[in-house]
Amino acid sequence: MNKPARIIPRTPQPKHARDWQQALAAAVDGPAELDRRLGLEPRPAAGAARDFRVRVPEAFLARIRPGDPDDPLLRQVFPDPHEDEPRPGYSTDPLAEQQAMAVPGLLQKYPGRALLTLTGACAIHCRYCFRRHFPYAEASPRGARWQAVLDYLRAHPDVEEIILSGGDPLTLSDARLAACVADLEGVAQLQRLRLHTRTPVVLPERVTPALLDWLSGTRLQTLVVVHVNHANELDAAARSALAALRGTGAQLLNQAVLLAGVNDSVQALEQLGKALLAAGVLPYYLHQLDPVQGAAHFAVSDARARELLAALQARTSGYLVPRLVREVPGAAGKTPL
Ligand SMILES: *Cc1c(COP(=O)(O)O)cnc(C)c1O
Ligand code: SF4
Repeated sequence: MNKPARIIPRTPQPKHARDWQQALAAAVDGPAELDRRLGLEPRPAAGAARDFRVRVPEAFLARIRPGDPDDPLLRQVFPDPHEDEPRPGYSTDPLAEQQAMAVPGLLQKYPGRALLTLTGACAIHCRYCFRRHFPYAEASPRGARWQAVLDYLRAHPDVEEIILSGGDPLTLSDARLAACVADLEGVAQLQRLRLHTRTPVVLPERVTPALLDWLSGTRLQTLVVVHVNHANELDAAARSALAALRGTGAQLLNQAVLLAGVNDSVQALEQLGKALLAAGVLPYYLHQLDPVQGAAHFAVSDARARELLAALQARTSGYLVPRLVREVPGAAGKTPL
């Protein structure tokens, strides 16, 4: 009982894990700091940033043009004062997702695939995010809930594809993810593993040897759906992270959100498609904004959205034209516009 007190060493983390966790911890976390780092005068910011905080990793900050308050990347992360204005038709759960929870942490809205909200955390905070008000603490499947997820999947043999989402699943450790995937591989009928993640692009340090290991080692066919809204997001660091993911054999796809002042021009969409293709990623979806409270200043009308897609179709290769969709609560899939 009288043993001298001793400092218990923490489990050593692999170097690459420390690198990305430190980069995430060091992300810019306030509007004033964001402006200062970009050489801008401090601007008024939304009070909503107290609940849904600013979060911008250095790698993303480095792609923003200093001194330009209208930069298309800055606009995605700066809490515009318009966020605080209530708008009719904009709500905190626009997709009625809380009703679609099959078991806590598992959403099955569409046949054949189910989506796991593994964590509420993200490597970046996008101001237009439809999940910005989502109560993830209640949704995260851990412990007994994780068993319930596996039981649900075993009881639903039509579910062949499992989507790891969130939040962003790649904010979790590789140890946790590898363990989840090992359990999922034990569900006999599962064929495909899909990741929905923005992290490889906004925090390229996250693409570690351990991540590449479990991703290339799984028996499941893998798809990684990244989230890039503007060509300027794809700098050399992002491209090499994507190349490493592609090296695992994963199919890379992109989903973007149509955002006023970010990518609502035919030039911006064409450049995005070409930059994605050069990085080995095919455009998949272009989402119409979900009417989430605080995001109304990003809205583009359906008429304008259709016009943009028709113009894009008329001037570029078909595989560079994403499917323009919107999510309609209760529909059996994304709804084409
Ligand atoms: C978007 C989404 C999917 C995936 O839909 P795809 O059209 O296959 O890309 C699956 N489940 C949920 C709950 C979704 O929101
Ligand atoms: S990374 Fe995705 S889930 Fe996270 S804040 Fe951005 S849009 Fe939302």
